[in-house]
Amino acid sequence: MAKGNKVKKEIDDKKSYEMQAELRSIFEKIPNEINILLFTSPLKNEIFNESTRNVLRIIRQFAPKITLREFDITHKEAKRLNVEYSPALFINPGRYGNIRWYGAPIGEETRTLVEAIIMFGYGHTHLSPDSIKILDKISSPRDIKIFVSPTCPYCPQQAVNALKAAIEKPDLITLEIIDIQANPDLAEKYSAQSVPQVYSDDRLIAMGAQSEELFMLSLEKMEQQTIFIPESDAEEVESDLVIVGGGPAGLTAGIYGARSGLKTVIIEKNLLGGQVANTPIVENYPGINQIGGKALVDLLVSHALEYVKIFPGEEIIDIQKGGIFNVQSSRRRFSCRALLFATGAEYRRLDVQGESRLTGHGVSYCSTCDGPLFKGKKVLMVGGGDSAVTEALHLHNLGVDVTVVHRRDKLRAQDQLVKALLSNDVPVLYNIEINEIRGNDRVEEVELVNRITGDRTTIAVDGLFIAIGYSPVVELARKTGVDITPDGYIKHDGRHRTNIPGIYSAGDVEGGYKQIVTAAGHGSAAALTIFEDLVNPYWKKEGK
Ligand code: NAP
Repeated sequence: MAKGNKVKKEIDDKKSYEMQAELRSIFEKIPNEINILLFTSPLKNEIFNESTRNVLRIIRQFAPKITLREFDITHKEAKRLNVEYSPALFINPGRYGNIRWYGAPIGEETRTLVEAIIMFGYGHTHLSPDSIKILDKISSPRDIKIFVSPTCPYCPQQAVNALKAAIEKPDLITLEIIDIQANPDLAEKYSAQSVPQVYSDDRLIAMGAQSEELFMLSLEKMEQQTIFIPESDAEEVESDLVIVGGGPAGLTAGIYGARSGLKTVIIEKNLLGGQVANTPIVENYPGINQIGGKALVDLLVSHALEYVKIFPGEEIIDIQKGGIFNVQSSRRRFSCRALLFATGAEYRRLDVQGESRLTGHGVSYCSTCDGPLFKGKKVLMVGGGDSAVTEALHLHNLGVDVTVVHRRDKLRAQDQLVKALLSNDVPVLYNIEINEIRGNDRVEEVELVNRITGDRTTIAVDGLFIAIGYSPVVELARKTGVDITPDGYIKHDGRHRTNIPGIYSAGDVEGGYKQIVTAAGHGSAAALTIFEDLVNPYWKKEGK
């Protein structure tokens, strides 16, 4: 053996010895009795049955409080616990019959078993206070299946998250930890081709390992969550700068404001990221060739969270002006020296008959959200701008039979996008407007009007996607006394100051180019102006 290899082996042996000694000392001191039940069938998975026995034998040597019993899968106890596969493992099934392993806890999965024994043995899961808060919101049953593999180093983290949830809420949460190598049929049934993968009530809620809080949030919401923002209990929040709106402008202003030394908070009533969160693909954010809109939002939010507190899901109800602004949200009071409106824009409606009634029943404004439901079906995409073309391409790629309907004879979208649309043979109907959307419970047909000839035609479709631009969200600013331009945008002086000292604007709500990067740029510029003004208030000089 080469000298280097010999030294490495000595170090590895030492580490392994130290780990075993540490584990032994933890296991020896376990105060609670641990009753492990193993169910096996000599006819099924004998190699995994034997591996499970070996692992349990080794662990038992260290832990005097563990008792181990093995039964055949036909035993009445197996029937009572509805055991279907061999090997199946339970820990303390009297109280925790809700938790089971299908497969052998070998390889990386031994770590999950060790963690489980420590949690049962010492009687606590060490859930974080945030995780407990989220779990406490779950009031209906959850039936979790997590697919893992002995060769997956990320699996134990996710399996332990699931274990903690099931240990904390045994009456509501059932858990099956399924090793895909021992149970290929189950993996096939759930199309679990990568691990770890978590299903709750047969719905995929997470792929890959998550932090404990994100796992709990995914379990609570029953869909994969990518960002965790801790909830605040504060009734009053004092700050220098309150930013209204958590899109690219608001998030960037948050980063710049905080980095300038201003105590900054962001309040967002809807979706963090604004329109970007619903954009299928972004290809023009500098430095990133291509990224999903939601993934870009996650990057922006994670970055902003390093500097600011974000209050999602809170609506501002009232703003009182004075030397200090008092801002009342649906949840708490904020006070600040400056206020930034980065409220963005909301999607425009066609305002035709049938649109409101059939929204959510075939009429959609979000291809990222609803597109997959229309796979193999026929839909129209209304609009001729970047949004309509980007979203039509997204639907086409999903396998939706999409036709673009545009009111003029030329698309407004960027050349690159138009070329992509044409090269993918996505049909475009020019000079056509939607006159009416019809259907009983869902969209069945749409009446079209040719703007040149006036001819009316009716075509059968399963859905209608609308992407005809956005209207700025200015109601709150207007109510606060901020001047609005004749086009409906917030009026500002070029440095993002509105007519009211201490109130600023940034992003799509100001009009101009509506790009993610310009919104971010305006957010940073607004925050820098605010910082300068708070240090050296122009309104004092001007005697306002
Ligand atoms: P937009 O550029 O304002 O385009 C709206 C489209 O809808 C236009 O083609 C317009 O027709 C049509 N339209 C408006 N009202 C209509 C009505 N009542 N009936 C039928 N058609 C109607 O909006 P957008 O495409 O949502 O884009 C908004 C902003 O975001 C733009 O600045 C865009 O560049 C940006 N954006 C960028 C990207 C990207 O860079 N990847 C992606 C999405 C959006 P006319 O052409 O006849 O006016």
